[in-house]
Amino acid sequence: MQQKWIDYHCARCGEKSASISFEQVGETYGMSHRDSPVGDGWEALSKENFEKMYAMRDDPEALIRQLKTPQGNKFFCDHCQLPYCKKCWRIQVIYADDHPCWYEKQLGTCPQGHTVKLDD
Ligand SMILES: [Zn+2]
Ligand SMILES: [Zn+2]
Repeated sequence: MQQKWIDYHCARCGEKSASISFEQVGETYGMSHRDSPVGDGWEALSKENFEKMYAMRDDPEALIRQLKTPQGNKFFCDHCQLPYCKKCWRIQVIYADDHPCWYEKQLGTCPQGHTVKLDD
């Protein structure tokens, strides 16, 4: 399977908001993201999700609507239905109440004021 990076750009300023790609290693399916507001990373996907999204890789506009899964959403506002870059998201890092050093999640507030979970 050839790796192909799909670039998304910020709906507000036009900067790159993230690149994503799909990878299958044996029976493991996943999506990589880089240059996103929450950095680089990899998320496991179910086989069904992977196949659905991989089939859409030549249609980034349609594909982005599938990224609403909690795993896939690192740069996309569900409410606006638009991607934003790390400069346009206002990022807030949340630590667990009982473990102040324990990273819990990152919330982002989009330029329209919607707060969504970008990472956990
Ligand atoms: Zn931007
Ligand atoms: Zn929004």
